[in-house]
Amino acid sequence: MRRVALPDKDGYFGEFGGKFIPETLFNPLKELEEAYNLLRNNREFNQQLNSYLKDYAGRPTPLYFAPNISRYLNIKVYLKREDILHTGAHKINNALGQALLAKHMGKKRIIAETGAGQHGVATATVSALFGFKCDIYMGETDIKRQKMNVFRMQTLGARVIPVKSGSKTLKDACSEAIRDWVTNVKDTYYLLGSVVGPHPYPMIVRDFQAVIGREVKQQILKKEGRLPDYLLACVGGGSNAIGLFHPFFYDREVKFIGVEAGGLGKKDRHSASLSKGDIGVLHGTKSFLLQDKFGQIKLAHSIAPGLDYPGVGPEHAYYKKIKRANYVTITDREAIEGFKLLSRLEGIIPALEPAHAVYYLKRLAKSASNSLVILCLSGRGDKDLDMVRKWEE
Ligand SMILES: *Cc1c(COP(=O)(O)O)cnc(C)c1O
Repeated sequence: MRRVALPDKDGYFGEFGGKFIPETLFNPLKELEEAYNLLRNNREFNQQLNSYLKDYAGRPTPLYFAPNISRYLNIKVYLKREDILHTGAHKINNALGQALLAKHMGKKRIIAETGAGQHGVATATVSALFGFKCDIYMGETDIKRQKMNVFRMQTLGARVIPVKSGSKTLKDACSEAIRDWVTNVKDTYYLLGSVVGPHPYPMIVRDFQAVIGREVKQQILKKEGRLPDYLLACVGGGSNAIGLFHPFFYDREVKFIGVEAGGLGKKDRHSASLSKGDIGVLHGTKSFLLQDKFGQIKLAHSIAPGLDYPGVGPEHAYYKKIKRANYVTITDREAIEGFKLLSRLEGIIPALEPAHAVYYLKRLAKSASNSLVILCLSGRGDKDLDMVRKWEE
């Protein structure tokens, strides 16, 4: 496969990305970039990673032809089953890659921030596996809302550090984690959970998630003898979507659709960075994000905890700008319908994040019947059952 020359050496995807950072972060990021550039083409490193992806996480994941929803909608739907992976979602691909990177860099401790707790759980998992000390920063408000994930992280041996400043959510947890990192960078690795943040993170996370798209390409050629018409994935920070899209960048006949959370609907201004946001800088990178008229970051909202990040990765911003991908929105209510549709038709309960993409199939089926579509089922729905049950009440 031809390697896509993105980002450039300064971390830019067109006008997006880069490194908008305080001076204290300059050396930590430089050390990370140099280590990664040495390891990314190292045979031994890649063999190790592949062996963990296979025997620990459960790769390759199946590409499943979903016969019932295909018949129901009159399009041909394949599901990329990231929901079957260990810990229940694609986040483990990235966590394994970065933890192995941390190990090669000689680090002893891993830190991360988490909102709903899913990235915290993936980080705690790989820390247990490789024997890292693990500290997870989490807003006090989120800790109260996500008791189960807090307990899961603690069970895995991680310490969950409550953040009491500001809005007591993800944004503030992120600031605390960065403060910790610059203070303890000698032995500490900062494990970021999506294709966001300053260079080199969007590139590193993209590379570790691109295993999704590489597998899909082989699998669909074997099953159908041709490439798909559409690739469909939900977009929070954007890692599962870019992981699916990126290896198809030069396959112009394959259309990309990223599905963002539209929250409560038309009047909801607290969701959908790409569809409704403006260009700005958040967490060290230039991209589309949700801000008010004074440039203050808005708190995002979605029924799916993994989709309520107020920004989106710079590679998506670039795909939108050059019209390589289309970005659409699906509301909370529609996502619940997608959740039920897949559960009842295929016996697969999706996480609420990819349930947004499942619902979008209904719209796509109207304009593109009989087309061949691959949907990234980024995670399983066990974690969301309580939420959906309460929604029904
Ligand atoms: C975290 C999460 C997402 C959103 O993150 P991306 O970086 O946009 O992929 C989507 N689906 C699931 C199941 C998640 O856990």
